[in-house]
Amino acid sequence: MNIILLGAPGSGKGTEATLIAKDYCIPAISTGDIIRYNIKNKTQNGAIYEKYINSGQLVPDQMVIDLVRERLMENDTKDGYILDGFPRTVAQAKSLATFAKIDIVIFIDVDFNNIEERILSRKICPNCKTIYNTKTYKNNFCKFCKTKLVKRDDDSKEILKNRFDVYLKQTEPLIGFYKEQNLLYRVNGNNQKDEVYDEIKQILQNEGKK
Ligand code: ADP
Ligand code: ZN
Repeated sequence: MNIILLGAPGSGKGTEATLIAKDYCIPAISTGDIIRYNIKNKTQNGAIYEKYINSGQLVPDQMVIDLVRERLMENDTKDGYILDGFPRTVAQAKSLATFAKIDIVIFIDVDFNNIEERILSRKICPNCKTIYNTKTYKNNFCKFCKTKLVKRDDDSKEILKNRFDVYLKQTEPLIGFYKEQNLLYRVNGNNQKDEVYDEIKQILQNEGKK
């Protein structure tokens, strides 16, 4: 199954994508992770990406579209995949439709009041990408690979404001876009991650029976 996870920054897309990926043995493809990988490894486009990401703006559509198109040509996607953080604009969604067939779009709906706090207390493992909430996880090292956890450069109060604005203006219209195509399912993202995942699993199981 080819799945899109849609939701505001900090809605839990990355966390849920990882859970689905493990259960269904399909890759979770996070454009944010791919972009950060390019920045860290100083690839040709890394410096350009950095400028956008660190101001909370979107990387230009065509650049991200090219990244995703290339990634979807890899062999591990043939039995399905999860897109986390893509598409983020209607233009991206329209382009995606020309080279991929999406089966289902899951919108993780969260109250904006909850998100800021979540993001500001978020840390990630730079190695295996596991996401932690420092309010509940008090250790400074990843429980899976023991790497020291870090904060994302764009998880600061100033940059967040822009990321939310961008989400409202450019990404939220995708809810209507996919609703019209009868692909959209909503889950309550204010719940704990396991409860959210139960809801997602239910949706995927029903979809599988169709
Ligand atoms: P979050 O969902 O918490 O904002 P992501 O890791 O998905 O985190 O994205 C971080 C940043 O990476 C975005 O603010 C943006 O600059 C860039 N980015 C990720 N995906 C896209 C995309 N599909 N289009 C444009 N920019 C993107
Ligand atoms: Zn780790």
